[in-house]
Amino acid sequence: MSIVSKRVLVTGGAGFLGSHLCERLLSAGHDVLCVDNYFTGRRSNVAHLLDNPRFEIMRHDVTFPLYVEVDEIYNLACPASPVHYQHDPVQTTKTSVHGAINMLGLAKRLRAKILQASTSEVYGDPVVHPQTESYWGNVNPIGYRSCYDEGKRCAETLFFDYHRQHNLRIKVARIFNTYGPRMHPQDGRVVSNFIMQALAGEPITIYGEGNQTRSFCYVDDLISGLIGLMETGDDITGPMNIGNPVEMTIKELAEAVIDLTGSRSKLVHEPLPSDDPVQRRPDIGFARSTIGWEPKVALRDGLKRTIAYFTRLREDLAKVEAAQ
Ligand code: NAD
Ligand code: UDP
Repeated sequence: MSIVSKRVLVTGGAGFLGSHLCERLLSAGHDVLCVDNYFTGRRSNVAHLLDNPRFEIMRHDVTFPLYVEVDEIYNLACPASPVHYQHDPVQTTKTSVHGAINMLGLAKRLRAKILQASTSEVYGDPVVHPQTESYWGNVNPIGYRSCYDEGKRCAETLFFDYHRQHNLRIKVARIFNTYGPRMHPQDGRVVSNFIMQALAGEPITIYGEGNQTRSFCYVDDLISGLIGLMETGDDITGPMNIGNPVEMTIKELAEAVIDLTGSRSKLVHEPLPSDDPVQRRPDIGFARSTIGWEPKVALRDGLKRTIAYFTRLREDLAKVEAAQ
């Protein structure tokens, strides 16, 4: 089967998910323009792609208009870890809202298809479990997580209004907790924190009692879901949950990480951040029936690959320090 090569813009392309998406799109034969302001992304995430003539990288902040020529847009630009998005909350809302307006404006001019990386955070602290796309959520509009949650909700509103008002071809993916190689080691998310702590033999910090649940999706599965959604016909807009429905407590995650690393780290409890959702698990029935998608990588396999990545990262850092 011959591949129709497209010019694809990935905003946030130097971040964790963005770098994997760029890689996958390039290997499918597309031209990729990666746009990033490096707030949480790193050039090292895409360093291995720089020699590819189909890959181009541009430093740009999506809160400002962008004039480029592409066929498809994946809008991923936005810090995703609570530590990072709460660092400059006003900028976080601007990135979601102004970023969406700018990218939708670009898509409108180009008549390009556009996908929004939305989030399970639009469900807030959900009272419907597991979360289906029809659930409207339970979000605090004025709390510490609101800059992210409400910013992403407003971005979804903008996507659907551009669709209704301007007939734009939109795709909205609601991404649930995703992990894997190239997560930022200091971004404060639970998988990277626990693995880094376990490898260093430091205490594993469980916030609260650790009975809150999450459902963790390996990055390769997530990327397949995003591309699958983008490739649907124009009648499919989403929102579509993309995540792994296997739910576990944070304490169980800590135990799995200790087991797989063979670490002697102890579990310690720290205060639970405000508005931390109690439970989270996607209903992926819509993704299954529409794009035939479901996760393939089991948690232990995904964790092993992620542990291998952080082990290499620590070795590289140790070499740099030894050379100084
Ligand atoms: P990340 O922080 O690794 O990547 C975000 C990227 O966006 C970074 O490279 C960052 O530098 C860039 N960025 C931030 N603000 C920008 C701006 N104003 N202009 C240009 N670039 C900017 O996070 P990630 O985990 O790769 O998340 C990617 C997207 O997926 C985000 O939109 C996030 O909200 C969404 N998402 C991720 C998860 C997850 O578990 N990883 C879950 C739900 C949603
Ligand atoms: N968490 C934890 N210890 C950590 C980091 C996070 O117990 O060192 C908890 C956090 O309170 C939350 C869960 O792990 O209940 C997932 O946190 P993360 O920041 O990864 O994602 P989110 O809260 O956005 O789902």
